[in-house]
Amino acid sequence: MKVMKFGGTSVGKPQRMFEVARLVTGSEERTIVVLSAVSGTTNSLVHIGTFLSQGNRQGAKEIIDALENQYQEFLSLLVQSPKALKKGKDILEEHMEFLNIILRISYSEALSKDILAQGELLSTKLFSLYLEEQGVQHALLPALDFMRIDANDEPQVEVIREHLEQLVEQHSSTNLFITQGFICRNAKGEVDNLKRGGSDYSASLIGAALNASVCEIWTDISGMHNNDPRVVERTVQIEQLSFDEAAELAYFGAKILHPASIWPAQQYNIPVKLLNTMEPEAKGTLISATASSKGVKAIAAKDGITAVKIKSSRMLLAYGFLRKVFEVFEKYRTPIDMITTSEVAVSVTVDNASALEDICRELQDFGTVDIDKEQTIICIVGNEVAGDNRTLQRIFESLQNIEVRMVSYGGSVHNVSLLVGSDKKTQVLQQLNSGLFQL
Ligand code: ADP
Ligand code: ASP
Ligand code: MG
Repeated sequence: MKVMKFGGTSVGKPQRMFEVARLVTGSEERTIVVLSAVSGTTNSLVHIGTFLSQGNRQGAKEIIDALENQYQEFLSLLVQSPKALKKGKDILEEHMEFLNIILRISYSEALSKDILAQGELLSTKLFSLYLEEQGVQHALLPALDFMRIDANDEPQVEVIREHLEQLVEQHSSTNLFITQGFICRNAKGEVDNLKRGGSDYSASLIGAALNASVCEIWTDISGMHNNDPRVVERTVQIEQLSFDEAAELAYFGAKILHPASIWPAQQYNIPVKLLNTMEPEAKGTLISATASSKGVKAIAAKDGITAVKIKSSRMLLAYGFLRKVFEVFEKYRTPIDMITTSEVAVSVTVDNASALEDICRELQDFGTVDIDKEQTIICIVGNEVAGDNRTLQRIFESLQNIEVRMVSYGGSVHNVSLLVGSDKKTQVLQQLNSGLFQL
């Protein structure tokens, strides 16, 4: 079994869906195709939820109407036969009716998840309709029947495996399966999701659950680049990465991969390939257990970071102090990304600042607490980068004019991380691109 995941732009237009159909029907191996929502749809659905939470039904209704028009046009270009057009109209009607009904229901967090699920449900049903019209034998597997997260929002690979194997077995003569990325059920059995960009995570989880030969992530760029192509002009594609390197890049902001999407593939040793739907012949990036050559591979940046400094000359050296500090973050389920300590202070960073007020209130028992918002983590990744003095020297030579707030070195041999003000991000990425890659 092979997994092929296509992101929002890859299914963003009927023309693109035709191309996806060509790619997924070319395979000899049994294939499970994971689709994102049509690009822009999830954003629209987020806006509908936001308007409803603010009591602005009119605003929500306008977005629903715009979506309806967009999808009607999409359908008219996707299929030709009156039978398929009729079926497509019924699909659109079902989902638009759902959205119109929720306008009359009182808003809740659970409802917002139902709203968000409509994007992937629509894209997969429409793609399946196109395949059907083309006479391509396939089965549509509802992700809500197998994709599960537990009470801590953690996916459960073994439960997913059990359900998915049963579903696949029911279609023993089928070689092509289509399913939704992103959406899942939570511990309460409600519709939920794997967070924005989560279709990559779905693909990796499915790959792990089915012990796939490969998990292909098809997107709008030919693989992982050495730096963020949205920010830096001259970037180059990387042919090979180890799981560790890819996981660090994904976690620290390389948008091409969902932050958590590498661990299932790594744990179950499923190679991941990053490929370009617009340029299918391009080599892309292979991510596998093979250790790649030494040296810096890529730089990524994670925005929206808050640094918290706890200063306490009295308590810091006392053992048990750090544990108490970490317990406060644990209590509010807030993960820490970077940590640095000195004799009088400890600084940590978090990207989820929703419980920051409570956290700071409790931390004040231990010392003076300072907060720096709008920070960015710059992560320099490569095989044994942290074991190479020359790399460190080059990093700091490149950033002589930049105020660096924190440095994390030696936590992992694959990563050196810096914290800088977000207003410096572009400059830092560009200067490191020249300093480390001579680009
Ligand atoms: P999809 O909709 O297919 O999931 P995404 O927009 O989530 O696609 O991810 C692909 C985008 O990630 C690219 O268009 C690119 O702009 C961005 N990106 C950010 N950092 C990197 C990187 N280091 N290498 C490649 N792409 C990157
Ligand atoms: N459609 C979802 C999003 O836009 C999931 C994804 O595309 O991966 O976040
Ligand atoms: Mg994505």
